[in-house]
Amino acid sequence: MTAKFNTTNPATGEVLKEFPTASDEEISAVIDASDAAFQTWRTTDVRERSSPLARAADLMDERRWDLAELLTLEMGKLRAEAEAEVELAARILRYYSEEGPLLLSDEVLAPSSGGSAVMKYEPIGPILGVMPWNFPYYQVVRLAAPNLVAGNTIILKHASNCPQSALAFEQVMNDAQLPSDCYRNVFADNDQIQTIIADERVRGASLTGSEGAGAAVAGAAGHNLKKSILELGGSDPFIVLDSADLDATVTAAVKGRMTNSGQSCIASKRLIVLEEHYREFVDLLTAKMSQFVAGDPRDSATTMAPLSSEQAAQDLMEQVQDAIDHGAEVHTGGHRVDRPGAFVEPTVLTGVTEQMRAYSEELFGPVAVVYSVADEDEAVALANDSSFGLGGTVVSDDIEKAQRVADRIDTGMVWINQATWTEPDLPFGGTKRSGVGRELGAEGIREFVNKKLIRTP
Ligand code: NAP
Repeated sequence: MTAKFNTTNPATGEVLKEFPTASDEEISAVIDASDAAFQTWRTTDVRERSSPLARAADLMDERRWDLAELLTLEMGKLRAEAEAEVELAARILRYYSEEGPLLLSDEVLAPSSGGSAVMKYEPIGPILGVMPWNFPYYQVVRLAAPNLVAGNTIILKHASNCPQSALAFEQVMNDAQLPSDCYRNVFADNDQIQTIIADERVRGASLTGSEGAGAAVAGAAGHNLKKSILELGGSDPFIVLDSADLDATVTAAVKGRMTNSGQSCIASKRLIVLEEHYREFVDLLTAKMSQFVAGDPRDSATTMAPLSSEQAAQDLMEQVQDAIDHGAEVHTGGHRVDRPGAFVEPTVLTGVTEQMRAYSEELFGPVAVVYSVADEDEAVALANDSSFGLGGTVVSDDIEKAQRVADRIDTGMVWINQATWTEPDLPFGGTKRSGVGRELGAEGIREFVNKKLIRTP
């Protein structure tokens, strides 16, 4: 039987490397070490805490080629996208290295009862991170960079299908001279995750992944009276109100839908188009989605990578087939690609109704669903008719109109005239079943800290 933690090339299905799950004794030793490291790290000056991050950013830049290669090997990411992810992770490290100390400055309050008061941001202890495979470095850095500057230590449990990427990132942190045990990777199973969360010394947990995994981790954290941050799934609307350049708008929608072969929480999954533009939009979209070339993700001619695993491809096909069986129209795609590996054709569906799984479930792959709506109100109602609330896009040549519509969208992030994306200094997170809390920006560094009040008469 293949080990839980393994590298399986999704472009071929070949199991390349396996790693043993940690023993309970090893997990216990990691918690001891993380807590011991915290006792020193918490008292280290914040500027000193920020400097290993700058070195780690430089190392990621230097090792970009090798780090990207691992992403392509383990989860099938296109080479160019893999290198872009390494760059983004380095930018986040650099951002928190430079801005972190300032974001943690004492805040002077003006008590209405007189006297003075100040709020300090103090570290709280080891934090557990549980991360997914879709952006193996970016997801980890979003948690690790701000928390290390804040003075916490990190125990990181990565997805079981990207163990080499997990180890490569740990190596970067060690080589950047982060003091030992401030960042530890663990190959833990679900029971061991529960054990880590239950340990008195571990002060919080952050999970990026599916709703089920989020409920398991947040449930354990709640049971043990600890905070958890959840970054979960999404089914982001991409609303087209009007556009003088519909071709460019469709190009943006395709990018929003197809980045990472569609396996992004913030992908533009539901394209909601005002009826006067709908027919042309569908035609342009179908033409652009038909042009992708499936192949080896290491080959620069490939524009369509495999999904992360055979299981992921089968799950997506079940959702597509369910829509087809219930009467959805397929404009392009709708099948597996006729070659080995976890490939699904880029697919455009219309006529999706509430009875179909594709209406309410997250489609984690290259499948775009397009809806026609009569007006702005109907667009907003459809966009908000989702259990998710992560991101979204509003397109209009009238920016004020787009901003007014953005105000009515019930998600954590709305990007105007571009597909939702991420920047180191902008808060990231969702509402409803897309999660709890924020990462990145000032918000991200203030989630796992003691906001401590000092009151002086
Ligand atoms: P997943 O199956 O939930 O896995 C995520 C992590 O949780 C993995 O490390 C996984 O470990 C672990 N895990 C799974 N079940 C667990 C349990 N019962 N207890 C503790 N840990 C558990 O998610 P995925 O399929 O890899 O990722 C795709 C999902 O993540 C999508 O829904 C996507 O939208 C979401 N996502 C959200 C964001 C965001 O920022 N909001 C970003 C990226 C992805 P194993 O691998 O060992 O099972």
